[in-house]
Amino acid sequence: MRVIRFKAGGAVSFGITEGHTVVRLAGEPFDRLVRTDEIFDPAAIEVLAPVTPSKVVAVGLNYRDHARELNMELPKEPVLFMKPPSTVIGPGRDIVYPDASEQVDFEAELAIVVGKAARTVSAAEAPDHIFGYTAANDITARDLQRRDGQWTRAKSFDTFCPLGPHIETELDPRAVQIKLEQNGLVRQESSTAQMIFNAYELVSFISGVMTLLPGDVILTGTPPGVGPATVGDSLTVTVEGIGRLENTVVR
Ligand code: ZN
Repeated sequence: MRVIRFKAGGAVSFGITEGHTVVRLAGEPFDRLVRTDEIFDPAAIEVLAPVTPSKVVAVGLNYRDHARELNMELPKEPVLFMKPPSTVIGPGRDIVYPDASEQVDFEAELAIVVGKAARTVSAAEAPDHIFGYTAANDITARDLQRRDGQWTRAKSFDTFCPLGPHIETELDPRAVQIKLEQNGLVRQESSTAQMIFNAYELVSFISGVMTLLPGDVILTGTPPGVGPATVGDSLTVTVEGIGRLENTVVR
């Protein structure tokens, strides 16, 4: 099932895309979403970020091939950081290049969307707490990340977390292709099979630290090839089985 969040006639709803139509869902995110008989034309709706998380938890250095590229040892446990919910934007929305930075990097990532609250769950239990998966771009002011010695400012500018275009609920996250194109040129290309800690292990680890709430998002790390974006760039993250998340960088 492909779940989107959209605006039509001033109202925001969840929906599922079926062929060339969108069916509105009613109910509470995410366990009790039920179909309605309201059908929309995709051309007549505005697609929003697929969730409004209470928090975005992210993981540093989680791809073996990326660690090799950086000549770094593999971490023994996931390194966590957070991005505030105000970083989240939807597909097609502009990423704003902040004046405070001179190096803003793209990072293609698979994002987990939590479905059912999770606290100290095992990796085996994790799938029951996951609603689905979407694509993300973990935009990072690299110069500020280095200068500050910790990551809050670098990761937290408004618009620094594009998500979308929809949540795929039927994905096995352990071996899908992930790619980033900058103005149509492939910059990052790998497989989630390269992850050091897979999606289920990440949910388990993070839920041992903080309660994950429905709609919360986990960014699972980025493959090799991260690089700087420039104003005017079109950045597209493609995750196999999910789709394309495209955003433009503006000043
Ligand atoms: Zn990242």
